[in-house]
Amino acid sequence: SPLPPIDFRAELNDEQYAAVTAEPGPALVLAGAGSGKTRTLTYRVAYLLHQGVQPNEILLLTFTNKAAREMLERVEDLTGIPRRYLWGGTFHSIAQRILRQHGELIGLKRHYTILDESEAESILKTAIQARDAKFIKTKNNPKPKVLHNLISYARNTCGSVHDEAADRYPFLDGMADKIAGFHQDYQKAKLEQQVVDYDDLLEYLLKLFREHPEVARQYQDRFKHILVDEFQDTNRLQSEIVDTLAAHHQVMAVGDDAQCIYTWRGANFDNIMRFSERHEGAELHKIETNYRSSPEILSFANDVLRAQPAGLGYNKELRAVNDSGEKPYFVPLMDARGQAQFIIQRLEGLVEEGRDLSDVAVLYRAHYQAMDLQMELTRRNIDYQITSGVRFFEQAHIKDFTAQLRFASNPADVSAFARFTTLLPKVGPKTAEKLHKFIRERAEKLEQNFVDVLCSEDVLKKVPADAREEWPSLAETIRELVHALSEQAPQDLVQLALDGWYSSYIREIYPNWTERADDLQSLVAFAARYDTMEELLAQLVLLASESNERSPEDLKNCLRLTTIHQAKGLEFPVVFVIGLADGTFPLKRTIDEGDLEEERRLFYVAVTRAKEELYLTYPMLNNQGNQVMRLNPSRFVREVDPSRFETLRAAPARSW
Ligand code: ATP
Ligand code: MG
Repeated sequence: SPLPPIDFRAELNDEQYAAVTAEPGPALVLAGAGSGKTRTLTYRVAYLLHQGVQPNEILLLTFTNKAAREMLERVEDLTGIPRRYLWGGTFHSIAQRILRQHGELIGLKRHYTILDESEAESILKTAIQARDAKFIKTKNNPKPKVLHNLISYARNTCGSVHDEAADRYPFLDGMADKIAGFHQDYQKAKLEQQVVDYDDLLEYLLKLFREHPEVARQYQDRFKHILVDEFQDTNRLQSEIVDTLAAHHQVMAVGDDAQCIYTWRGANFDNIMRFSERHEGAELHKIETNYRSSPEILSFANDVLRAQPAGLGYNKELRAVNDSGEKPYFVPLMDARGQAQFIIQRLEGLVEEGRDLSDVAVLYRAHYQAMDLQMELTRRNIDYQITSGVRFFEQAHIKDFTAQLRFASNPADVSAFARFTTLLPKVGPKTAEKLHKFIRERAEKLEQNFVDVLCSEDVLKKVPADAREEWPSLAETIRELVHALSEQAPQDLVQLALDGWYSSYIREIYPNWTERADDLQSLVAFAARYDTMEELLAQLVLLASESNERSPEDLKNCLRLTTIHQAKGLEFPVVFVIGLADGTFPLKRTIDEGDLEEERRLFYVAVTRAKEELYLTYPMLNNQGNQVMRLNPSRFVREVDPSRFETLRAAPARSW
């Protein structure tokens, strides 16, 4: 049956129309944020279907599976063709689909399983231990997690693990050879267990195509049209896949180099350059109109890009077509708490003006920045949804840390005890339970305090040998907490725990421990709001469990909290970008290292999510409970012409 007519001319501008109706052949659409790149791809699919292309001859590659689903739903609306007939998804999901079918040709059984990050790391760790028993225990050697990242980076950039390791550890003799060896063993172990990590999915797909050209040909012939969104953030491995599948140059890619924010995962602007080399005669389309944002927001965004050092990227000044609106607001506030209060206050106003909560998004650089806001929202029963990432209080390190406080205030709490003791090597839930029972019985028998027994030699003997080194420091922290419990305020107790065992533990375990340390430090200020430990603990439990009680329907009309990375491609009528202080955004590390360009692009991505209203909030103080630090406004805002925004004095001026 014929498809419902679509007036492509009316739905698209000339530049978009040209791309949508382009003859088969390679094409590259390079255009700024909100110019309709994603829309162009969506209409391209609908157009091809109108031209008689079969649904299963089209492949759509996107950055998230959700993005693919939304685009194909739109295609379904436009054409009536059910989205399940089309191939769309991330590189990983497409690779997975093909490998399930042909993986056996390269030694992958049909039932292979996919590892998550932590499972993959633990296999690597086992491989390291098997090859070199002393490696992990030796101080200054990179941790398994760091090595896993290194290996992954090398693979995603199609480089060699050996070279990458030699690059990163030039002064450690023989280190590169060692790491390359770990990598080999790691690969072998996974194959033996018939498990694959994310990078394997992509590498195995290429291997399959390389070793079985007839399979490659099948897909090269089958996909008459390959469409790629967010091309600027594909890495070398992914672009190899595009190039292999697009053997007939039947590929259209869209992207914006100014929005490249995944270089840390191997994304590389060179891919855009290589595209024209690999697919000679590629048609280049540019779109210069922005349909998303008000002219005011767009002028601000253009200024952000103008602050880039000359010569970086394509020059893309965007033209606004939307009605004039309000200038972006720059809002200095006392601290993170003031920030949260301002947002809530503004939110109430917005709802009164007739906005839905789902019209609004709060964006931030790192998850911990949203902690105060999450608290206020919870307290006031305002629904919010966090895009990916765990809610602040549900994060493992927050729960591990606060379990110590829970336990100190109630030593009968076995699960709190197990939560932190099982962090020690060779201590599992069973051992933890046994230890707890032993200590309890011993304390009763000797008529001693539970925590004094906890620190005794008798108990140490019961602790598995591998955990004995760390045990005394852990036990001592708990003992101090218990003794301070009745005398000290909650924030002092949190500080006491921070000075104890757990902080040195995370240093050993997590390569990115500083972020976690920041999270934990922010708990001191959080605790300062409670008079007693009981109140604090009750609140923590509430905050950590609350998301489980929501049904998906509840989540429809709710505020969106998200990192900027996760907000790629999305748009909202009202956007708050929080934490605009030097050291927070841009991050301190990037300032110190003079490595600001990716941060700046990230800021550009953030502000270009907004359609009508944009609030940039700046906490003037970093309030850590016991310690207050003054912060400067973000240089990214200072670089913008002051006439482009309005400063809103929401907080009463106060001297410090
Ligand atoms: P990003 O770089 O952020 O991914 P994008 O270039 O993919 O942005 P889209 O999300 O496709 O931009 O479009 C931005 C907004 O503008 C969407 O709401 C889209 O529907 C609208 N839009 C794009 N082109 C047109 C047009 N020709 N007419 C009306 N609306 C349009
Ligand atoms: Mg897009």
